Amino acid sequence: MFRDKGIIKPFEKKIWLASPTMHGLEMEYIREAYETNWMSTVGANINEVESIAAEKAGVKYAVALSCCTAALHLCVKLAGEKLYGKPSISHGAVEGKRVFCSDMTFDATLNPVVYEGGIPVFIDTEYDSWNMDPDALEKAFEIYPDVKLVVCAELYGFSGDIKRIKEICERHGALLIEDAAEAMGATWEGKQCGSFGDYAAISYNGNKIITGSSGGCLLTNSLEDANQARKWSTQSRENAPWYQHEEVGYNYRMSNVIAGVVRGQYPYLEEHIAQKKAIYERYREGLKDLPVNMNPFDEKKCKPNYWLSALIIDEEAMCKQVRDDQDVAYIPEHGKSCPTEILEALAGINAEGRPIWKPMHMQPMYRMHEFVTVDGTGRCRTNAYIAGGVEDVGADIFQRGMCLPSDNKMTKKEQDKIVDVIRNCFG
Ligand SMILES: *Cc1c(COP(=O)(O)O)cnc(C)c1O
Repeated sequence: MFRDKGIIKPFEKKIWLASPTMHGLEMEYIREAYETNWMSTVGANINEVESIAAEKAGVKYAVALSCCTAALHLCVKLAGEKLYGKPSISHGAVEGKRVFCSDMTFDATLNPVVYEGGIPVFIDTEYDSWNMDPDALEKAFEIYPDVKLVVCAELYGFSGDIKRIKEICERHGALLIEDAAEAMGATWEGKQCGSFGDYAAISYNGNKIITGSSGGCLLTNSLEDANQARKWSTQSRENAPWYQHEEVGYNYRMSNVIAGVVRGQYPYLEEHIAQKKAIYERYREGLKDLPVNMNPFDEKKCKPNYWLSALIIDEEAMCKQVRDDQDVAYIPEHGKSCPTEILEALAGINAEGRPIWKPMHMQPMYRMHEFVTVDGTGRCRTNAYIAGGVEDVGADIFQRGMCLPSDNKMTKKEQDKIVDVIRNCFG
């Protein structure tokens, strides 16, 4: 369907959305682990990652785990047991309890709530930051004053008012789990993302701002909670001469080899952020006379890590685009475009874009879950997106927005070509 205005030759080497960038130092720490035979879930690299991660985020303790999803799982367990006590073996830590969750995010944000028997209630997104809408959260607490746990993600490395989210939680006696998987190194009012929640998680997944190929950390200011998470992550062994168990355990500890990669990446975090920022600013400049806007943020309070550059098309400049659960169709129109057309055009030159995270309240598995928006009643909303008229913010951003190739190894020339291709879509 892509309207090819003039021949633009595809890139020989694919331009990725975001791919790992190694620097050499990683290899030295891996080699050290190898040569000293610490090929294990114990070792110097793990200890170093925990101390660097905590210091960088400005929290007291970090627990190095196999991935961020595991970290979020242990966050939910810690919060759940603090709020509701220790469950019996066959029950989850938030069994049968409603938990307010970000709606427009990766499903890993809230999967752990479900692992622990909780019932996600989705909170709509705000246009100003594309993060959880604090007003919708306030409203959710009016509807469900008994809710005691909130899970909030920072989208694409651009924080919303996470401070206000925390204040709202405190006012309602609720704990906050901050999913800072995408926002490592970003700040709000000078404070690091990952330091606002009672518990927080960061990710070293292969496409994040720095990577260990996999891995993540749980962040907390409580020594007791850090120790509990570390114990759970290593099969919950009690302090005894044999394998003694009083509670269920997990095999969630980070490997010392992975930790070597993460340790070698940390010195380059700021460099990666600077590269991502340059990419974002070049897109903003290159697309400024088109009917689009880049990911929004409060320039006074938020310092993003610019992990993924994204755009949203003005409503008047959207050609017709219809999505069902599997397929999408659109009708090309002069002077207009849509995410699908741009994604196809990018794929046509061997560059990778991506739709915005499809909101959780639009996912088949959560269609019957409650969803709170500022305007509607927000109760038991199903199929909130009605073709032709968008009823909520998340569905609207999903309809009109998309992520752009944001790889920090992309050259200026390559990015110029991507900008040209996007411009052509509006021709
Ligand atoms: C990547 C990501 C995760 C999961 O990270 P893993 O380390 O792959 O488990 C969780 N939440 C968000 C918002 C993410 O983007």
